[in-house]
Amino acid sequence: MHELGIVIHVLDSVDQIRKENAIQKVSSVTLQIGQASGIIPSYLIDCFTWARKKYEGFEDCILNIQNTPAITTCLSCHQEYDTLKHGKTCPFCQSEDTVLKTGNEMQILEMEVEEIEDL
Ligand SMILES: [Zn+2]
Repeated sequence: MHELGIVIHVLDSVDQIRKENAIQKVSSVTLQIGQASGIIPSYLIDCFTWARKKYEGFEDCILNIQNTPAITTCLSCHQEYDTLKHGKTCPFCQSEDTVLKTGNEMQILEMEVEEIEDL
């Protein structure tokens, strides 16, 4: 499952930051996900809820998702349009010479932690 792979990747990345900073508990992780990335947020949350048990310090961690709208730029007429509505064909000039500008991203925006051990 695509979503599970992403969740494991995110948990591994955040877990590494947690260890490096001697953080005991991660209370939330926020991801930025593009609408054209093909990632289904509800699956992602299901996978996260299952996978977090395998990581120390993530027992109560919440996954927040921020959606980035999918915007395509037309290389022929230089207009921008909603990718989900029109796909690869520009609604202004019908050109198919278009590129996805935003909407394909998957990145960790921020993490919230509860307590930091005194060193
Ligand atoms: Zn166009």
